[in-house]
Amino acid sequence: MAPRVVVVGLASDFGCQVQITNIEDHLLEMLDVIDLGYWQLASSGHMPAEYDIAVVEGAVTTLEHVELLKRLRKTASVVMTIGTCAHTGGIPALANRCDLDAAYSAVYGEGSDVARGRCAPGPVHSVIDVDYQVPGCPIDTDEFLAVLSKALQGLADPLPGDPMCAVCKTKENVCLLDRGEICLGLVTRTGCGAKCPSLGRPCTGCRGLAPDANFDAARKVLASKGFDPNELDRRFDLYNAVREGVR
Ligand code: SF4
Ligand code: SF4
Repeated sequence: MAPRVVVVGLASDFGCQVQITNIEDHLLEMLDVIDLGYWQLASSGHMPAEYDIAVVEGAVTTLEHVELLKRLRKTASVVMTIGTCAHTGGIPALANRCDLDAAYSAVYGEGSDVARGRCAPGPVHSVIDVDYQVPGCPIDTDEFLAVLSKALQGLADPLPGDPMCAVCKTKENVCLLDRGEICLGLVTRTGCGAKCPSLGRPCTGCRGLAPDANFDAARKVLASKGFDPNELDRRFDLYNAVREGVR
């Protein structure tokens, strides 16, 4: 029997689920080897009671998400996250930087039902254990297929730990910091092949925090290049407002 897979979305713009539709050439091949029982973006039916692999997109922002994740973890033998929102809390987690109660009241009115049942936005791994992760905003489709393939075979797939600069140097890119642009490669986890700096654009940190990132040293590097060192943290917050317990 083919492994039964469900794809669910929490708080996100569904961009990573849309990326799955962009697999195009390989989508039908993928469907040959899995039993896709539910895909929130494309399914009108309900999620089945039984499944083997749960693919989760999006950040946790409500108690309903928490309960759903616990159910997924209890039912599936493998949980895989896709995208930055699920991996780090992403842009939804920026809400941790403001007064959430005041923000909800301002948008929905005092005492609105919408605010009931919310929780502090965060990554999936803050609620349940995660077996496989595909970081990135949005995900790279080849990486998604490679990680799914590893999950189907039960092979380990740890995320690389080096900071982006280590890979960027091997590409012989001229450092963007020397071209007057603030790049976050010093503190961002690699794995994308330094995609943005190789295209002449600064890394904005979408693959999350490099486990051994040294912020003090990175701030000093920025200062030595004539930038405001506080910009490192301010910009990195875009995708990484939650940094505790990063995996
Ligand atoms: S361009 Fe960015 S990633 Fe590349 S070496 Fe410079 S800071 Fe690091
Ligand atoms: S270079 Fe940085 S922003 Fe660009 S894809 Fe890689 S991690 Fe994301």
